[in-house]
Amino acid sequence: MPADPARELASQPGRGHRTSAVEVRRSARRRRTVSAYRDGDRTVVLIPARMSAAEEQRWVAVMLDKLAAQESRRMPGDDELAARAERLSEQYLDGRAVPDTVRWVTNQNSRWGSCTPSEGSIRLSHRLQGMPEYVIDYVLLHELAHLLVPGHGPAFWKLLESYPRTERARGFLEGVAADRPRHPGDSGEGRGARDGRDDHQGRKAIGE
Ligand SMILES: [Zn+2]
Repeated sequence: MPADPARELASQPGRGHRTSAVEVRRSARRRRTVSAYRDGDRTVVLIPARMSAAEEQRWVAVMLDKLAAQESRRMPGDDELAARAERLSEQYLDGRAVPDTVRWVTNQNSRWGSCTPSEGSIRLSHRLQGMPEYVIDYVLLHELAHLLVPGHGPAFWKLLESYPRTERARGFLEGVAADRPRHPGDSGEGRGARDGRDDHQGRKAIGE
């Protein structure tokens, strides 16, 4: 199997993107086309083997801009998300959870969502976009519930009992997470209770 020579570039200065690393792969089979995709927090750019260093640099910049533009188009608005949060709170939490801000973030790769109760803020990872609606609703509802109960104790899960697809959504997310490297720091139950932030890496629910 012919291996494409790959090398790591340092982060791209001045492009304003969160991506930590760009990996350029040169392929002898590629003649003119350049393509790029995200792989976790890396970006892989595929270029023809013959390209000069200057062309490579130019194309990496072009592809990073292109990916960023695509991602911002796909991003449903924060307003829509806030409206959805209000609906979910109304429907499943008697309207008691009232966040100050609800927004999508792109810098959250090891958590699906997070909540800072002291600020009334909820953030959802852009990685949820494109997932089934019931999954996004579950994460949103989960964070809303943290505004009322910070940790993952019985009182917390009781709040989520009324949402009929909790188990299904958790199964879905665990399946996705199993395909990705875990963030080594994300393991402790109750971390959210201590520092007001939330950790959604595959802990089992009470009663599971
Ligand atoms: Zn949680």
